[in-house]
Formats: sequence, C-alpha cells, structure tokens
Amino acid sequence: MNAVTPRLTCAFLVSMAAVALGCVQGGGLSHSVVERRRGSRVETYEVAGLGLGAVADGYTFRNARFRFEFDVAFAGVPGYETEDARRRRGVEASEFLNGGYAFVRDIFGIEASKMLRVVIAPTVRGADDDAYTSTSWREIGDEGGMIEGSEESVMHFGREAFENRTALAHEMTHALLAAYRLPAWFSEGIATLVEVDYAESDRTDYADVTIEPIGLDENGRNVIQNWRGHGSDLPDRSSDTYGSAYAIVREIGRRYGPEVYPRFFQDLRATKAHLAGDGPSITVIVRTLSRVADTDVTPFFAEIAFDIPDV
Ligand SMILES: [Zn+2]
Repeated sequence: MNAVTPRLTCAFLVSMAAVALGCVQGGGLSHSVVERRRGSRVETYEVAGLGLGAVADGYTFRNARFRFEFDVAFAGVPGYETEDARRRRGVEASEFLNGGYAFVRDIFGIEASKMLRVVIAPTVRGADDDAYTSTSWREIGDEGGMIEGSEESVMHFGREAFENRTALAHEMTHALLAAYRLPAWFSEGIATLVEVDYAESDRTDYADVTIEPIGLDENGRNVIQNWRGHGSDLPDRSSDTYGSAYAIVREIGRRYGPEVYPRFFQDLRATKAHLAGDGPSITVIVRTLSRVADTDVTPFFAEIAFDIPDV
C-alpha cells in the first residue's frame, strides 16, 4: 500500500487553559452589593430564543446560542429525572444566560463566535457546587501563536452550581473571553464584574474591595499580576484575589470611561495582538488601553504596583 504523506505547512498543537470559579456554596456572606451598573447603559436584557430543541437522547438540548448537555446520571437525580424536567432546567438557565450574554456584549463589546457548550453533571471535580470553563485552541508555528477563531470553550457545572446564577454568569463570561487569552487578574476581574453587576452576586462583599495590592513579591510587584502564573504563591481561588481583580477592572472602567473596554477588545481584534505567543502581555495590555483611552494609563498600573516592561 502506498502511503500518502501529507505535506504540512504548519504544525498544529492544542493548548489547554482552564479557568476556575471558587466554590459558590453560600456560607454566611451577609452583604449584597448595592453599588451596581455603571451608568444606565442597559436597563433590561432581552431574552431571545428561549425554546430548546431536544436532541434524540433526551439529555441534550439546544437553541441558537447554547447547547446544554446533561450527564445521563441525572436519570436518578430528583428534579432532573425526566426529559421535560431537564428541558425546564435548560430553559431557565438559557433565559438567565441570554441576559448575561447581552450584558457582556454591551459592557465589553465581545460576543461568541460559535455556540456555547454547557456540560452539566451531578458533580464536577467531586463537588456539586463546583464549576469551571475549559478552553482549547490550535496554535501555529514555533512561536505558538493562536489560530484565529480556533478556540473552543466548554462550561462545566455541578448540579448546585448550575442552579446558581452567580456561577452561570461567571463561567459564561470566561467562555466569551476565551479568544482573548487574558491573564488571570484581568479575566477573573471581568468575570467577577459580570457576577456582581449582572448576577448580583453575594459571594463576597465586593462593595468594600479596593485596588490596594493584596501583597507584593520580592521585587515589590503586586502579586496579583502573576496570579496562576509560573511561581505564583497565590491560591487558585480566594475571595481576596477575586475581589482585588474585580476592583482593578472596575477602576479601569471608572477612570477611562464606559467605552474603554469595548474599544480595548475591538483594538485587539484589529491588531490581533491576542493571537501572539501566550496571549497579550501586560505591556500589550497597557499599550492598548492607553491607545483606546487616548491617555497614558501607565501611572494607574504603577499605582497598583504592576511591573510593566518596555512600554
Ligand atoms: Zn473565574
């Protein structure tokens, strides 16, 4: 047999990045945040396409935007035993996620380029209240640049997390952000902002958080800059870290105006800076923010003790 050897003009690799949400179980968080919604740009969120079509197995349901995949183990879980019950759960989540989708689109100017996959199981990583979003993409060349549009995100929810609006909003934001491969402080700050401003999270008292560094490393750098990076001592998930990331993202919006984020993501799409290497570096982020805000944002990042090489 003659083997045909395909001539590859480029090498494809698959990288995995996972972003995770802290456990969302309640536990005595007493304050809800009253300070919300920057300006009044969006008052209500229209819900489109609530109907969910069932795929033949009775566990998979989809509409124009979402595909919900329930684990077959739900056959034995009260409230999820029947196809109708699972569909009702899906419609409920779809309604809320649709509103969150519109919120993210209006505040940050980003949208999904493909259907969003939602996988629900009785437990995830051993807990019914755990949730995370995984993203994979294809890369090209020696430098590891991402192939535009190759990202695939999957949201994973345990049963209790799936019934929790905070978790739904948080994870969907990660799915929408996946293409941009932002550092943890930035993506978690945005996901937490959606949690607080759209889902009205009471996971922690976000009204009290500040941009004051939560710690400095031996070089005097804010430890959050390298959160989940190589050598970071910060826990993967902690209220302090989510709160600090949220405060930074909120403050950038306050200082540079409601258009700063839509323009930031639009600029990335135009320059394709997010496709290079491991995603946008802090230098690229600061340069891009400065360009779209039409002002030098370096002093802000110096104030929060970020280390910014070569701006
Ligand atoms: Zn997260």
